[in-house]
Amino acid sequence: MPRTISGKMEVSMSNKLLHNGFCPVCGQPILQVTKMKDGTICRECATKVRVLFPVHYEERTGTGNGSFLADPLKDVPVSDYEAVLKKARMYRESLREKYNGYNAVYIVDNVETVQGRGMFASPVLNVYGHVLYGTFFIDDTVMLLHGDNTINIRIRLGRAIDRATPEPITAEDIKDEERSFLFAWQAEGTAPEGYPFQFVFTNKDLPVEAGDLIVK
Ligand SMILES: [Zn+2]
Repeated sequence: MPRTISGKMEVSMSNKLLHNGFCPVCGQPILQVTKMKDGTICRECATKVRVLFPVHYEERTGTGNGSFLADPLKDVPVSDYEAVLKKARMYRESLREKYNGYNAVYIVDNVETVQGRGMFASPVLNVYGHVLYGTFFIDDTVMLLHGDNTINIRIRLGRAIDRATPEPITAEDIKDEERSFLFAWQAEGTAPEGYPFQFVFTNKDLPVEAGDLIVK
């Protein structure tokens, strides 16, 4: 079963089934579409090869400035999927070997703490870094590897970031705009530089610093 965010997914399931048809790779009904060059596949199949095709920000060329979210799977024909899947498995295995068999690894580049308003408000810890491989979800319990310490923490929020302009998330953002960050959960990255991603934790006095790993 795909990971459901809420009951909403099940309610709209029959509608989506009518619109999206069946995945040419796994044969299952497509609930969430991922576009490839000459067709669409389901998000579960896309996730299996994401490690080689990370969604990432690209600078807009021509008029205007800023950046947009690009998906390199759009350039891959559906008929290449099986070959690409083989490559992705081999690549993931080599990364697991390198990183002690963890299913997902994130490396911390820098940390920014935003103080909450009011005496009892807990600080919001913004962590900027790269997903080297694997998938992180909001509400995942992950391990922070800090020096010799391993600390279990829960991911409060996460989102893809444009490295040029990382913005901290505040306690107000968490309350007001939680929904707007949902899109980035499935992001996967590729070594060596990885996929730029921001995590938010609300643990007090969490000893996290550049070079630490967040794993699961
Ligand atoms: Zn599929």
